Amino acid sequence: MKKSVIFGLMLLPGLLCHGQEQRQQPPATRQQTTTVGQSQRVPEDSTIRMTHFQTEIWDPEVPMVQPAAQIGDPPADAIILFNGKDINSEWEESVRGGGTKPATWIIKDGAMESVQGSGSIRTKRVFGDFQLHIEWKTPSLITGKSQGRGNSGVYLQDLYELQILDSWHNRTYRNGQAGAFYKQYAPLVNASRKPGEWQCYDIVYTAPRFGKDSTTYFTPPRVTVFHNGMLIQNNVALRGPTTYVGISEYLIKKHGPGRILLQQHGNPVAFRNIWIREL
Ligand code: MG
Repeated sequence: MKKSVIFGLMLLPGLLCHGQEQRQQPPATRQQTTTVGQSQRVPEDSTIRMTHFQTEIWDPEVPMVQPAAQIGDPPADAIILFNGKDINSEWEESVRGGGTKPATWIIKDGAMESVQGSGSIRTKRVFGDFQLHIEWKTPSLITGKSQGRGNSGVYLQDLYELQILDSWHNRTYRNGQAGAFYKQYAPLVNASRKPGEWQCYDIVYTAPRFGKDSTTYFTPPRVTVFHNGMLIQNNVALRGPTTYVGISEYLIKKHGPGRILLQQHGNPVAFRNIWIREL
């Protein structure tokens, strides 16, 4: 073997050790400094040299929106879905298998009310991500029990039911009471008012996103709900479309923006002051 090769092999362990030592050097710390000249020392950490301007973002300016004079009323950029008078400008009866039909719910005292024999109603518009405010009232005269007392529901994108029910001292299954995402998530608390009193839901909805697979979510629908001002659903991830019987996950099908649907479940339930903000 040539002398130069033997010399190289002798050096190799030393070189390797040197490399390991270098890799084990700890990263520079906030306190580490460098000597400049004889006595002056300046910090090496770049965050110490930053100015406050470097972390301020000015553009684009956040748009101003005029809030309502009273909390619960629509702000300036809201779409009014029901103004207490006209139902057919924004709503239509939900017809199975397609087609349209005028809504036949009655208008009474500035509210629209589901009537037995009519169908569920849905918005003519479709929505993706949104903030929805909706006020509802079950009858003051208590009839029925469990799921048969003031049953209705707000379906988000026509698929995901936020239950409406008279849950004031009315036991039913917890994932089917007022404020539940039906058969998926019980509300955190029962914030129900007495029957005959107006109640409200404030809903923040993020629609699902889909990838190549049309039968699973890339990101699921996420929802936060306040019932009469109390947090009852905290950014929950829905498992799939609402179903009375069966497994929601099996029903997932790729979809885009969808309607808001109000359920007609055989019980008279009134609605008023419905507005939505697209996000
Ligand atoms: Mg219902």
